[in-house]
Amino acid sequence: MKVPQAGVIAAVIGLSLTASACGGADDKGPLAVGIKFDQPGVGMREPDGTFTGFDVDVARYVAKELGYPKDKIVFKEVLSNDRELLIEYNEVDIVVASYSINAKRKQKVDFAGPYFLAHQDLMVRADDPTITKAEDLNNANKRLCSVTGSTSAENVRKNLAPKASLLELGGYSECVVALKEGLVDALTTDNSILAGFAARKGNEGKFRLIGLSLSSENYGIGMKKGSGELQVKINKAIRKMVEDGTWEAAVKKNFGTGYKYEAAPAITTSN
Ligand code: GLU
Repeated sequence: MKVPQAGVIAAVIGLSLTASACGGADDKGPLAVGIKFDQPGVGMREPDGTFTGFDVDVARYVAKELGYPKDKIVFKEVLSNDRELLIEYNEVDIVVASYSINAKRKQKVDFAGPYFLAHQDLMVRADDPTITKAEDLNNANKRLCSVTGSTSAENVRKNLAPKASLLELGGYSECVVALKEGLVDALTTDNSILAGFAARKGNEGKFRLIGLSLSSENYGIGMKKGSGELQVKINKAIRKMVEDGTWEAAVKKNFGTGYKYEAAPAITTSN
């Protein structure tokens, strides 16, 4: 009995020593940033292990303003369905992952931003002429794909097409495979995400975006509830990114010339 107890005590002392030794103001980090790993143009882990996408650029800019250079950022994968949970359990410090600000999520986490405005749209196979508007989906014969825990799936179920048969998968890249293979007729989510998939090397000419604006998705940076000062600092960083032109350059670089983007939205978050 005594030995394990002593071990536990030693471990606890060891932990607290480590914690205080690393807690110096100029020795901070790394910053754990939750991003998507499978959304080209938005948040993507490339086959060579590098990270690309608009969210990655926003995260790096904001991190730098907070005092974390590129090598002090650790990117961790989040899925649409586990973002609140990973924030609540301290697995990530901030989430920059096509994460729409809404009242339901605000009950669990705080947001800074918004830093981007997207709209829900539909993507179909380029050779399929049968879907041209949202109403074409509200039909039990139409199979639609979206992602669990996303506002896109919720909008379909609640108002866009409650009668459609909706396949909910873990990530949008899985829906793209399902669409390619003919398992579903359309994929619905933010136009930013869909544009990234349609433009991805190897996908050119395979898919078509319908061009609808089915919702307004204001992307925020998620963080633990009660983050106060961090939220203020992140909002300041977002404003700076827009003002110095980095924001627009990042939009153009990541979403390509064909994507019609909205102007940077006004910051609305404060607690
Ligand atoms: N922006 C929407 C959301 O936060 C859809 C994109 C996503 O699932 O990340 O749910």
